[in-house]
Amino acid sequence: MRPNTMNKFGAVLDDFGMESMLDKLMKDFIRPLSRVFFAEFGGCSLDTHHGFIVEYGIHRDRELGFHVDDSEVTLNICLGKEFSGGELFFRGARCDAHVNSDSQLEEIFDYSHVPGQAILHSGRHRHGAKATTSGKRMNLILWCRSSTFREMIKYQREFAGWCGECRRKKRERERLSIAATKQELLKRRMAL
Ligand SMILES: [Zn+2]
Repeated sequence: MRPNTMNKFGAVLDDFGMESMLDKLMKDFIRPLSRVFFAEFGGCSLDTHHGFIVEYGIHRDRELGFHVDDSEVTLNICLGKEFSGGELFFRGARCDAHVNSDSQLEEIFDYSHVPGQAILHSGRHRHGAKATTSGKRMNLILWCRSSTFREMIKYQREFAGWCGECRRKKRERERLSIAATKQELLKRRMAL
């Protein structure tokens, strides 16, 4: 089975005996970290996972387009081996309504993989992988999910505090409202 809908090369690890080990990894290590760093993304209530390997290289997948993960929190471990390129580019977290909106300058963040090192990020953090230009790169990816968060998000009517575009729009509304109030006060003072 393909690791996910975007990657062609790799394997789902849960399918051949690694499911309980990966579940333990999520519960014992990823959940305590996510509780601190990704509380607003459902990091406190991670309860299921999807674990897989992806392979990049000349005869494998070359790159991965801009996307969000089907996860609340993603652990991405670089297993090796020798390669160049393949950097991850991050462009800000977004809710479903704003997934295609522009990035702000402060949201631009690129990350170079180092074999043996991992990155932990929110699944809603938009990202992609640049082309692996030589060698072969393998990464182990653990998508951690929260059924509670997925249920709650259905009833969210207000803006999402963790979405960069929702936050930007809220700030803009506040700025306009303050400007209007100032204008009104000025008018009243002039009338006096
Ligand atoms: Zn939003």
